[in-house]
Amino acid sequence: MKVVCPNCGRKAAVSRELAEYRYNESGLKNVRLKGGVTETTCSECGETYVRVEKEPQLLQVIALGLLMKPGYLTGPEMKFLRAACEMTQAELAAELRHRRETVSERESKLNPKLTMAEEVLFRLVFLRSFHAYLSREGKNHLTDAHREQLSDFSQRFCEFASQVGQRMLRYVIALEEREGLWHLGAAA
Ligand SMILES: [Zn+2]
Repeated sequence: MKVVCPNCGRKAAVSRELAEYRYNESGLKNVRLKGGVTETTCSECGETYVRVEKEPQLLQVIALGLLMKPGYLTGPEMKFLRAACEMTQAELAAELRHRRETVSERESKLNPKLTMAEEVLFRLVFLRSFHAYLSREGKNHLTDAHREQLSDFSQRFCEFASQVGQRMLRYVIALEEREGLWHLGAAA
């Protein structure tokens, strides 16, 4: 069945559902959508349009998956998360106590080589920002079940971060007491 083309206005466009679609518009290389994507092609002007169903919800579900992903985030994933919270590079830099250039540089790299402490801090900032964003009027597109998943994970991640932090702190204090670590450092 032919529909009106949004580009040329002629009734010459045909829509079809795509079985699989590489979702490059997300900025992530490895997201493939299976179903829920319609492609409309016009035989008159040659224009092609792709429509992704429930896109706002889909983007937030991807963000949720990235926040809970084990291991390190890639630069494009960091950029995706920042966009999901509608944050600018400057706003994120202020939260992380970084320069804006540092944020920009990391987002451009597939492997931004963050230390574990930086990665943990990064997740904490994003978990908090995503929560805050979803609480704003009209911004939440996640289901209650997904919101619950996010809350549970955030709670567990905060506990993990605080344990890691305390362990490191105890280690540093013990070293300082035993060996006067910082005095050695200063003498070298
Ligand atoms: Zn057309």
